[in-house]
Amino acid sequence: MNKNILQSDALYQYILKTSAYPREHQQLKELREATEEKYNNSWMILPVDEGLFMSMLLKIMNAKKTIEIGVFTGYSVLNTALSLPDNGKVIAIDMNKEYYETGIPFIKKAGMEHKINFIHGNAMQALNDLIANGKEMGSFDFAFVDADKVNYINYHEILLKLVKVGGIIAYDNTLWYGSVVAPEIFTAQYYRDSREALVVLNSFLATDSRIESSLLSIGDGLTLCRRLY
Ligand code: SAM
Ligand code: CA
Repeated sequence: MNKNILQSDALYQYILKTSAYPREHQQLKELREATEEKYNNSWMILPVDEGLFMSMLLKIMNAKKTIEIGVFTGYSVLNTALSLPDNGKVIAIDMNKEYYETGIPFIKKAGMEHKINFIHGNAMQALNDLIANGKEMGSFDFAFVDADKVNYINYHEILLKLVKVGGIIAYDNTLWYGSVVAPEIFTAQYYRDSREALVVLNSFLATDSRIESSLLSIGDGLTLCRRLY
């Protein structure tokens, strides 16, 4: 599967080879290669060029405390951890621990383990627990959402409470391999349900007065939402 929205594969390979691969951190590269070797769903990993963009964004924002929903083997989490100051923190939520265990040796080798708090469980439950604890409200600089697409719209309501005013919530795969305008490209029900949910989400975010938003055509579509109040 072409995990980039650019339809010219040659142009995308040019971006990767000329600009992105030379700047990919060694431990990210090794984690990516180990994931590609072990899992046939390794296309789920964050594209390298998108990772570099997020890294720069986190540094421009001076982000210190972030949350990620959907960890897989930890590529985006390690990318985030590498972009935070030494006392920075990432809360990383995934219901599959085995995936994350594959990434741990690379995270340790990069010296980033102390910044990551992995929560094993269902994301909605974990987010509700953070709300219930009271101390986390409005405390996150940045949230990256890359798990079950059908729940993005539900995560949005909770993340608007957890992310501080001026903070960013980033939703990944919002163009869903181009299927938002071409529903016929998917026959499997999971992909079709995800598409329906993302089409609804994209329209919703475009008029949500609590945020300003920007849908970037990087990777498979990345929508940045900045909390306004
Ligand atoms: N961000 C990762 C990266 O860049 O490598 C990729 C994440 S992958 C696309 C999606 C992950 O979301 C999977 O590891 C899956 O186990 C997790 N996931 C899906 N639904 C979930 C849920 N309801 N709660 C927690 N994790 C979930
Ligand atoms: Ca993704």
